[in-house]
Amino acid sequence: MKILLVYPYFIDNRMDEEDISAIPMGLFSIAAVLRDSGYAVEILNAYNLGRSPHRIYQILGERRPDVVGFSILHANRWGGIDIARMVKKVNPATRVVFGGVGATFLWEHFLTHFPEIDYVVRGEGEVSFLELIRFLETAGDPPPAHIDGLAFRQAGKPIKTRDRRPLADLDQLPMAADYFSFQHVALSRGCPSNCTFCGSPAFWHRRVRFHSADYFVTQLQRLRERGVSFVFVSDDTFTLQRDRVIEICRLILKRRIEIAWAAISRVDCVDAEMLKWMRRAGCTQISYGVESGSQKIRDLYRKRIDDTDICRAFDLTHRTGIMARAYFIYGAPANRTGPSTKVWL
Ligand code: SF4
Repeated sequence: MKILLVYPYFIDNRMDEEDISAIPMGLFSIAAVLRDSGYAVEILNAYNLGRSPHRIYQILGERRPDVVGFSILHANRWGGIDIARMVKKVNPATRVVFGGVGATFLWEHFLTHFPEIDYVVRGEGEVSFLELIRFLETAGDPPPAHIDGLAFRQAGKPIKTRDRRPLADLDQLPMAADYFSFQHVALSRGCPSNCTFCGSPAFWHRRVRFHSADYFVTQLQRLRERGVSFVFVSDDTFTLQRDRVIEICRLILKRRIEIAWAAISRVDCVDAEMLKWMRRAGCTQISYGVESGSQKIRDLYRKRIDDTDICRAFDLTHRTGIMARAYFIYGAPANRTGPSTKVWL
């Protein structure tokens, strides 16, 4: 069973594509689980290929995968559909699986309107995808209603199986850096906040699970040994647990891992001591969700931060020698009181 995992290109060009052009961590984690179970897996960064069908047809023709899995964020969904159509043209028997945040929320839409998609993995994907591969290898029919966390068509209608329970211990996952080089890493999954515009609360249900400091730092160490010198720490909010962050920084310094990194946080979730440790351990940039200059709009977003929090965090961060970057959202529905329910397809 040959498996190809694809990170599709985006239809629109990005103003700043440095972090978005790197394959998300989840795809490597799924690939590591498959490799650990003895499967042949390759990963294709189609983002870097751009919209070049000739090259993609060439790769599909050379690799002849049995299953192609796609990492669908949201803005790359049309790129995923484009490539899925190419997969079916090369070999209609190849199974196409969509997964990721975008596929989790739009499973019914995808399975209703796009016949080239055979399965959707909903939610946390490692175990669901592995069980689906085992099923396809041994049976493939009737549809796998017994596997949690999936969606597929049955009698022509999209159906989903039960939600999969989240992994109890993230450290049980095989270390992706044992097999691959990559630039996105994560200490945790989930975020306790409930901002109206964000997919995290609905995807992770506001429950947060963490890797141990040792697992996280060992992953960094293996990446550094592979030649990676800069990583994006892509947690929703990396600094949620202050003591764990400081323990990580101490371990990076103790093991002399020379790696630079950028993280994401909330302005009400940092302090001077922690920032000092982060800077010493290689952190060069923190991106904060500021979202708007208007308190009214931030309240509308349920962001639960004010000007004082923002100024304090940016001041502390700059004084520590770390670049502070702000995320903003434009086009807020100013006359609404709750989250937008409109889905733009
Ligand atoms: S703090 Fe960030 S990750 Fe958490 S819900 Fe708000 S926007 Fe999403």
